[in-house]
Amino acid sequence: MMHRLLIIPVLLATVACQGQNKKGSPVAATPDTVKKIVRSEAEWKKMLTPEQYHILREKGTDRPFAGKYYLTHDSGIYKCAACGNALFTSDMKFDSDCGWPSFDKEIEGGKIIKQEDRSYGMVRIEILCAKCGSHLGHLFDDGPTLTGKRYCVNSTSIQLVKK
Ligand SMILES: [Zn+2]
Repeated sequence: MMHRLLIIPVLLATVACQGQNKKGSPVAATPDTVKKIVRSEAEWKKMLTPEQYHILREKGTDRPFAGKYYLTHDSGIYKCAACGNALFTSDMKFDSDCGWPSFDKEIEGGKIIKQEDRSYGMVRIEILCAKCGSHLGHLFDDGPTLTGKRYCVNSTSIQLVKK
C-alpha cells in the first residue's frame, strides 16, 4: 500500500513536465527545404551592430513609433537583417497604429518559424527567421485585412531591398 501512494505523485510530476515541453516546441515545423545558417553568438556579435544584436539575438523590441520602416511605403522586399532571408514584400505591409511595421502575410516557403512565447506574463506567438533563428517580432490574429493576421515586426530585424 505504501509503495502505491509514493508512486502516484511521481507520475503526476512527469506528466506535468511533458506538458510544458510540448508547449515550448514550435507551433509550425520548418520545412527541410530552408537551408539553416548556424553561427555562434560571438560570431553574430561581430557581424551585427549592438542594436541589431540586441533585437535579433536577444529578442529585444524596437521602441514603438520610432523604427525606420514603421511608416515606409517604398516598394521592395523585406529581408532578414541578419542573414538576408526574404520574408515579406512591400505589398504585404499595411498601415498599423500599433507602432511597428506590420504585414498581413509572409512570403511562402516556410521562411518564418512561429513559436509560443510566454514572456512578460503574456501568451504570444513569436516569429523567427527560419534560416538563422533570429527574432523578428510577434504574430497576432487581429489584422484588419482579409488574412486577419498581423505580423508585428521590429524595423531593426528587417532590411528593405528596394525595387
Ligand atoms: Zn535570418
